[in-house]
Amino acid sequence: MKRWEIILWGDPRLEAANAPVKNFDEDLQQLSEEMFSTCHRAPGLGLAAPQIGLNIRLTVLDLSVGRDPAQKMVLANPKIVEKSGSTTLEEGCLSFPGLFTHIQRPKKVVVSAQGVDGREILVEGEELLAQALCHEIDHLDSILLIHHLKGLKRRMFLKKVEKLRKAGQWKR
Ligand SMILES: [Zn+2]
Repeated sequence: MKRWEIILWGDPRLEAANAPVKNFDEDLQQLSEEMFSTCHRAPGLGLAAPQIGLNIRLTVLDLSVGRDPAQKMVLANPKIVEKSGSTTLEEGCLSFPGLFTHIQRPKKVVVSAQGVDGREILVEGEELLAQALCHEIDHLDSILLIHHLKGLKRRMFLKKVEKLRKAGQWKR
């Protein structure tokens, strides 16, 4: 199974526009499995296509990180249709290796998307799943962790990135 390289912040493909997924064919199934494999290996809870340099609206999520196949979710063209509550949780991103920050997210979301076969699906998520859904959909809208941070928090985050870069540790 092909494992993709996960690109890091600084690569323009992470901030480029992402086109809708249109073809629900064998290639998409294959790509989704490759994304799960890449995500599990990282390891991470989710991976969006732009993180492997593909600018399409596709993401995979698996909160069990490979332990429970029933938790694998492929979401094409997802959008948040309902959200409620608010919670501030620590969050990381495979494109910002080794960095974590607190971000405010809805407590609960309902997401509409298409599955790998093109069928419409609705996913309801609370807490960690809501956070992961918001994080991955952000990627498809070219929004990254850093874009949620302002002022001192942002400057401190950038400083840490700079430090890792200088130390040659800005890699996966
Ligand atoms: Zn991410």
